[in-house]
Amino acid sequence: MVALLGGLLGSGCPGSTSGPDPTARARAGMVDRQIVARGVKDDRVLAVLREVPRHLFVPPDQAAQAYEDHPLPIGSGQTISQPYVVAFMSEQLRLTGTEKVLEIGTGSGYQTAVLSRLAARVFTIEIRPELAEQAAARLKEFGAENVELRAGDGFFGWPEEAPFDAILVTAAPEKVPEPLVAQLAPGGRMVIPVGGFYQELKVLERTPDGIRETSVLPVRFVPFVGEAERHREGEGER
Ligand code: SAH
Repeated sequence: MVALLGGLLGSGCPGSTSGPDPTARARAGMVDRQIVARGVKDDRVLAVLREVPRHLFVPPDQAAQAYEDHPLPIGSGQTISQPYVVAFMSEQLRLTGTEKVLEIGTGSGYQTAVLSRLAARVFTIEIRPELAEQAAARLKEFGAENVELRAGDGFFGWPEEAPFDAILVTAAPEKVPEPLVAQLAPGGRMVIPVGGFYQELKVLERTPDGIRETSVLPVRFVPFVGEAERHREGEGER
């Protein structure tokens, strides 16, 4: 097995088969040093990050680094977000457990697994079929029974299931796709990175007075591909 996990396994209670899961220690350290230390406070988010086995959502040759403080490659030129970013974005959604959530950019499926523990139902869309397939297998193994996954372009959202109490986007378009705004329930919140080389993480909230938008963090995500590329800022419809 990989070095870190091998080392952790080796440092568990010798001879004991009933000791704590050795990867739990790595997760606890990740949460304390990377996430609590940077100001994430939502207890439910912190508890879920201590539980979800992130090492199962990265390629086997990256598992040793699964709990480190940076994004990792997951194949097809895509990345799994840094743990802190997953925690920060999840906290911004202010989930209580009753919500219906839409996620765009399933990628590894790790953020999906986190959301599945924070909300009632999760609908997730991934544009790259090979990643969608892998994520579906991992989510099944993880036992997320409240998740539906679709391979396709997330630009259009999931109209049959709209509206959503929360929408989380993990690829960056140059401007927020209109269909996603339209699928946000009253009081609902969307967290989405917006921009090109320089990106801002934005929170859009549907209030009685309309959409309120705030920028919360400079970020760097992979581009939102597909239909969104035909709707760039400053360009007319083609
Ligand atoms: N949340 C993921 C991050 C994956 S990176 C994780 O934790 O692993 C962003 C993902 O968005 C990539 O897998 C990419 O293929 C996907 N993506 C990009 N444009 C998309 C689109 N238009 N619709 C759906 N997914 C898209």
